[in-house]
Amino acid sequence: MIIVMRSEATEEQVMAVDERLRALELASNISRGRERTVIGAIGDDRKVQTETLEAMAGVERVIRILKPYKIVAREWHRDDSVIQIGGVPLGGRTVQVIAGPCSVETPEQMDVSAAAVRAAGCRLMRGGAFKPRTSPYTFQGLGEKGLEYLVNAARQHGLPVVTELMDVRQLDTFMRYGVDVIQIGTRNMQNFDLLKEVGRVDRPVILKRGMAATISEWLMSAEYIAAGGNHKIIFCERGVRSFETAYRNMLDVTAVAVLKRETHLPVIIDPSHAGGKAWMVPSLARAAVAAGADGLLVEMHPCPNEAWCDADQALTPQELNTLMGELRGIAAVLGRDL
Ligand code: PEP
Ligand code: MN
Repeated sequence: MIIVMRSEATEEQVMAVDERLRALELASNISRGRERTVIGAIGDDRKVQTETLEAMAGVERVIRILKPYKIVAREWHRDDSVIQIGGVPLGGRTVQVIAGPCSVETPEQMDVSAAAVRAAGCRLMRGGAFKPRTSPYTFQGLGEKGLEYLVNAARQHGLPVVTELMDVRQLDTFMRYGVDVIQIGTRNMQNFDLLKEVGRVDRPVILKRGMAATISEWLMSAEYIAAGGNHKIIFCERGVRSFETAYRNMLDVTAVAVLKRETHLPVIIDPSHAGGKAWMVPSLARAAVAAGADGLLVEMHPCPNEAWCDADQALTPQELNTLMGELRGIAAVLGRDL
């Protein structure tokens, strides 16, 4: 249930509602917007009479949320949420492209990558230091050294960074290196303990869709993060498992339309892990922007055939540059910029 306070409600009135909810054994989550404060009551609210809360001073209205996910639901927050990432807005009018290599390899590779990401007009950089690999015998990522190379290269080019967290034990290290966005990969979408921990920090999170997760399960995973107090969540569709073998995963563009209706949070697409081949990436990326995605997560490597991970799907700097030009045109048709 959501309690919408009047625009002139005082802090005491907000606190009184908060106390009443606690007395009703409900957890509360106070969201202070520019216009008004909204309080989310979390827990079993079936026995609570909305009228008694509505009668409290400063309360404008009480809305019951029927969906199992609450904070992430559009019912809770009608307008699109814009998440600020080191001064770069994601979820607003501008479509943001996050680009960079699958994995961090060397300082030189990262420096050339960061320069290419910037030159193509992207405002955010990706790079994996802790890699979830199917085989334990393949390159697992550089670990903490990788974070250092990523952050150093990106900072030189004024780019906030996105990198994957696989283990709660690394969270402090991520915070210490100033990782701007924590990525939760497809394999960890339902690692609930990990979700709870990133829910406790004040850092944007990209939550990738589990490769066999329904949209409802995905929304519930986001709710785990939000319930801890971190509402800065970005959904990332990266393709789902299907019967088809001609590509790595099946990109579910429909998910963009459904999520934009169900949640106020930004939705981005990863065309690289969906297609799994560099030649498919432009087509999927164009479809994503046309469908209304708020951004893209794209793999690019200075020299794809030398990449230590996901070599087949990495764009060259030149291909990224060309793609950005095409996407700008599509965004403009939709009244957005890129
Ligand atoms: C990645 O972005 O590098 C990655 C491993 O993605 P996913 O979790 O979608 O496979
Ligand atoms: Mn990859």
